[in-house]
Amino acid sequence: MNRKNFITLLSGGIAMASIQPFYDWTKGLGEEEEKMPVLFIGHGSPMNAIEDNEFSKRWQQMGKEIRTPKAVVVVSAHWLTKGTMVTAMPSPKTIHDFGGFPQALFDIQYPAPGSPELATEIQKLITNPAVELDHDWGLDHGTWSVVKHMYPDADIPVLQLSIDYYKPAAYHYELAKQLLSLRKKGVLIIGSGNMVHNLRMVAWDKLNEPEYGFDWALEMNDIFKNKISNGFHKELIQYEKLHKAATLAIPTPDHYYPLLYILALQTDNDKVEFFNDKAVGGSLTMTSVKIG
Ligand code: ZN
Repeated sequence: MNRKNFITLLSGGIAMASIQPFYDWTKGLGEEEEKMPVLFIGHGSPMNAIEDNEFSKRWQQMGKEIRTPKAVVVVSAHWLTKGTMVTAMPSPKTIHDFGGFPQALFDIQYPAPGSPELATEIQKLITNPAVELDHDWGLDHGTWSVVKHMYPDADIPVLQLSIDYYKPAAYHYELAKQLLSLRKKGVLIIGSGNMVHNLRMVAWDKLNEPEYGFDWALEMNDIFKNKISNGFHKELIQYEKLHKAATLAIPTPDHYYPLLYILALQTDNDKVEFFNDKAVGGSLTMTSVKIG
């Protein structure tokens, strides 16, 4: 073999090796006719993980209502990083990232597998910015408190995509658009946060009062729903300008950004449906949206 052919073969070999996992995963998933829906889920208190209440019941129902995904990718309000990362371990651990809750909540394990192959595909799909493969995180309660109700058998691979908390709202929306092709491959993408989320203002004495929302929280909830229904994503990205109460609803954007990831994946003719549309403790809303 002459030198030129050898180099051609070698470089071809390297290229093939690096795309092989991507190719295998894509082939395994196949191209499906119908797109998977995308979900924004208001997760609220971690106690929803172990309570059988109206919110968790709806999550259970949602798990049955939509066709069984091949994998679930969650953008959780509780994984804030510098740079964007995707969990790439075969067996993500259950993270109990909270304090002051009953032991029963700390005892929960959600042993869903991960998918290093899908993590690699996501890394390739998102060309800007560079996404890092993560081997340390796992599943935080923003993910497992919800997904364990949807898929109690923990037999579907679950991954998390982190939120680069050093970047503005528009950045997250643009990044998320690059995940669109996964909807056609049977991957369910979930944003887990809360649209109205002000923990400092929670009326702790009213937590058990059904649908207790401060006027500004209910007003913001209506504004969010109206803008989402009408597809006014630009206004939702510039959320500070929505209303004078916007900074009360979103004092920090950690629980709001997951919504932008989901909106970015909306396409023409997708149906928009709200569920768990209720306020809790005055300054939180559980309002969730299914798109597609
Ligand atoms: Zn939370």
